[in-house]
Amino acid sequence: MSAKYRAIEVSKPGVFTEVNRPLQDPGPNQVRIRVEACGVCHTDSLLVDGALPNLAYPRVPGHEVIGRIDAVGANVTTRAVGQRVGVGICGGWDDTCLACLRGDFVNCSNGVLTGIMIDGGYAEVMMIEARATVTIPDGLQAVKAAPILCAGVTTFNALRNAGLRAGALVAIQGVGGLGHLGIQYARRMGFRTIAAGLGPESEKLAKELGAHEYIDSGAEDAGAKLRALGGADAILATAPSGKAMSDLVKGLAVRGKLLVIGLAPDPLEVDTGSLVFGMHSISGSTTGSVQDEQETVAFSLLEKVEPMIEVMPLSKAREAYDRMMAAKARFRMVLVTENGNQRAGQAN
Ligand SMILES: [Zn+2]
Ligand SMILES: [Zn+2]
Repeated sequence: MSAKYRAIEVSKPGVFTEVNRPLQDPGPNQVRIRVEACGVCHTDSLLVDGALPNLAYPRVPGHEVIGRIDAVGANVTTRAVGQRVGVGICGGWDDTCLACLRGDFVNCSNGVLTGIMIDGGYAEVMMIEARATVTIPDGLQAVKAAPILCAGVTTFNALRNAGLRAGALVAIQGVGGLGHLGIQYARRMGFRTIAAGLGPESEKLAKELGAHEYIDSGAEDAGAKLRALGGADAILATAPSGKAMSDLVKGLAVRGKLLVIGLAPDPLEVDTGSLVFGMHSISGSTTGSVQDEQETVAFSLLEKVEPMIEVMPLSKAREAYDRMMAAKARFRMVLVTENGNQRAGQAN
C-alpha cells in the first residue's frame, strides 16, 4: 500500500484541491478506513460555503462513506481490520451534554460533523472514532450503501418516529434526493403512500418506487388533493421551498403532521387557524444517531430500498458537487475511489 493517499480538500471556502497526504496511523479509539465510495450531499455546502462559524480549512468533505478498516488504534475493541464499515454525519458526540445523557446523541450540543468539522470521505483514506462507524453487510454495494447513511437515515427516521400506524396515509413531497428514498421507505413501512412531485414526468418513477398514487403539484393544488383523498396523517416535506411546504398544511388529516426534513431558503408561513383546527403540527427532523444509521442500513437491505445514484471518480468531486448543487443529480451523486472501483465487480 502506498504511504500516501489522495484526498480532495476544501482548501478555503469555494475551492477544491486534490492533494496527496501522508498515510498515518489511527489514534486511540480510532479506525483507519480505505474508502470505497462517498456520497455527495447538500450538507457538504456548509463546509464549501463556510456557512458555520469557526470552521477550519483545509478540510476533506464527505459524510456518506463506505469502506474497509485497514488499521485500528489503541483501545478499539468493537471493530477489526478487514471489517466493512460506513460513516455518516455523526462523527462524534461529547457524552456529557443533556441530550447525550438522555441518549439523544444526534442532538449533542457539541456534536462533531463528519466532513465539516473533521475530515470526511472525499478521500482514499479516512480516520474516525470506531464508535462513529456502522457495519455494512456484504449484500449492499458500496455506492448504493453510501447515501443510506445520510439521505436514507434522514427520511427513514422522520417516518418511523412520527407515531404512524400501518395503513396511515403518508405523502412524500418531492421526488428527488430525499423524496425518492422517502417513497420507498413509506411504502415498505406499510403506509398508503402518495408522492407529490413537480410535473407529469415523475409519476412513472414515483410509482415504480412504490407510490400508490401521484399528485402533480405543478398541475393541481397538492394540499387540496390530499384533503380530498382523506387527508394525510403525515407529509414528509423534502422539496426546498417553504412556500410549497406551507401550502401542504391544508392537506393534513386530523392530528396530521408536516415533517420537515428539506432545507428551504424561504420561511414557512401558516395561519394559526390551520394548526389549531384539526390539531395539526409541524415538526422538523434531522439525520439520526449512529444506531439509527445502523438500523436504516439493516432495513434497507431487508426491504431492498436502494438510492438511485450517479457515480463519478473521486477526482471529479468538484463536478459531482456542482451537479448536486444545481439539482441535476438523479438523485444522489456518489464518488468512488480506485479502491472502490477494484471492488465494483465483486458482490460487495
Ligand atoms: Zn448529508
Ligand atoms: Zn452531547
